[in-house]
Formats: sequence, C-alpha cells, structure tokens
Amino acid sequence: MVNGDSLGAGRYAPSPSGPLHLGNLRTAILAWLFARSSDRDFLLRIEDLDRVRAGAEQLQLKELADLGLTFDGPVIRQHERLDSYLKVVDQLRAQGLVYECFCSRKDILEAGSAPHAAPGAYPGTCRELTEKQRAEKALERPAALRLRSKVSSFTITDQLHGEYSGLVDDFVLLRNDGTPAYNLAVVVDDGQSGVDQVVRGDDLLTSSPRQAYLASLLDLPIPSYAHVPLALNTDGKRLAKRDGSVTLEDLSERGINPAQVRELLLESLGLPAESLDAALRAFDPAQLPREPWIVRPEEIVQQLMPNASHNG
Ligand code: GLU
Repeated sequence: MVNGDSLGAGRYAPSPSGPLHLGNLRTAILAWLFARSSDRDFLLRIEDLDRVRAGAEQLQLKELADLGLTFDGPVIRQHERLDSYLKVVDQLRAQGLVYECFCSRKDILEAGSAPHAAPGAYPGTCRELTEKQRAEKALERPAALRLRSKVSSFTITDQLHGEYSGLVDDFVLLRNDGTPAYNLAVVVDDGQSGVDQVVRGDDLLTSSPRQAYLASLLDLPIPSYAHVPLALNTDGKRLAKRDGSVTLEDLSERGINPAQVRELLLESLGLPAESLDAALRAFDPAQLPREPWIVRPEEIVQQLMPNASHNG
C-alpha cells in the first residue's frame, strides 16, 4: 500500500500499444472515481509485456494527466517485474501446480472438439504427459507453462454484474517464449502492490474467475471487481483508433481540448461534468449506465467544435 491512511488501492493498467481512445479514457476516469470515492490510492501500471509501441507509454501518461487524473506512487512497469512473476511460477511449481505444454494454437483448436472439454477451455492435452513424452516433444518446440487447475469454474463478485461464475481451465502462466502471461502478471501485480479494487472494461469479466482463482492459490486477497461497459462504434464493435477522431490528439487537431473531452466523458456517465471533483461528489456506482457507450466521432466533433453553429 502506498499511503498508510488509505483503505487499499485501485488501479488503471493500460497496454502501451498506442494512444488511449475515448473508451480507454472513460474507463480510466471510472477507475479513478471508484478508487477515490472509496478512499483508496490509485496506481498506474503499464502492461508492457507485449504489444508495446515506442513512445506510447509517455503519450498515455500525458493523456491521463491532461484529463486531470492523479495517481499515487511510482508508475509500475511490468517489464521491470519479471523476477516477481518467475518467483511466483516457482512457488506454484513447488506445489505441483504447473506443467509444461507443447501445444500449438492449431493443436488446441483441433483438440477443442474433445467430448468433455468446456468451450474455450484448454483440453488438457499435455496435463498427464510422461517424462519420456515430454522429452520427445521438447525436441520439437519449447514448452509453455500451464496452471494445473483443480477447479473448472470460480465465482467472483462484481459491483455491476453481481455474482459471476466463469470458466477456469489450465491457463498459461508463462508463454513458450518465456514471457509471463497476462493472467499471471495481473494477479501478481495486483496482489503485490496492494490493489484490492479492479475496475476495467467488461470484456475482461470472463478473465476474472481465472485471476481470482490464481489469487486464492497464492494466498493473495481477491480484489473487489467492477467491470464497466465498453465504448463501441456504431457497428457494435469495440471502439478503435480507425473509427475516426477518437483520441485526445485527433480531437485537439479539430480544436477540441482535453477539458471538453473530459466533460463529454463525464456526461456520458450521467455525472456532473464541470470538474472531476464535482463528478466525484456525485459518484454512485449503482447509478452508472449498464449499457455500452456508442461513440459517433463526427457527431462529437460537430457538437464540440469551437466554431460549431448552435443556432441551427
Ligand atoms: N492491460 C489491459 C488492457 O489495456 C487491462 C488489464 C486489466 O485491467 O486487468 O485492456
């Protein structure tokens, strides 16, 4: 915990793959509101184990600062924490909870139709290999490491979704290039940095049972969760850079400043929009919209452009 007086910590954990778009920024504001309204610290973690674009971290830090979001403690970068992830893998291995997997994506897809496999679950192909079989397969490709899970589902409690039960399979802990997998890194980071509140897009709701189960195996506290609605484009797809003027930089080129964008985002959440503090005073998770936010960039630009005519 960063601040001894606070209750715990929330966090925002972007992947530095490019500029943040309106959907990412809205989730960041929500994570800040959830943390600050519950007297928690608010940490920033850069999830830079893969999908890194040069300069993106710096850009994202500036974008978050331009919105007025404040963080506690130093920025946490996953690539600086590799030792911590490997230590945890060793700890699990010592408990007999890790096995080597030689399957390619194609192998898994082909085996996916196995009669007893839950849809989307790793079918367990490598779970019971003999030492001899492992040695043979190791000549062909490097192994990934998987969790030897003892459950097939786990239930979490989410502030917006209530009780949610979802699949837990033998998910990957270390990829076969040695990179720690997302599910491992998130659990280790949250657990070791005192994060007890996870607020993020609801596309990750289905990952939370795996993560909570792993936390329980490691004797780490299971955080409280709030999976918030995503921003979508008019086709109902997750908002992306190609959808038009959707970043602070795009919008600034059209004469729209970050304060206006923040106002737009707060309005889209049904909150007072004049400042983050005003929004914080009024914030009530139970009142948040439960539907995705549909973004029409050109309408936003028309509405906010400095010379937009308001008389017609
Ligand atoms: N890095 C993930 C993302 O940008 C978020 C992971 C998390 O919040 O657990 O989608």
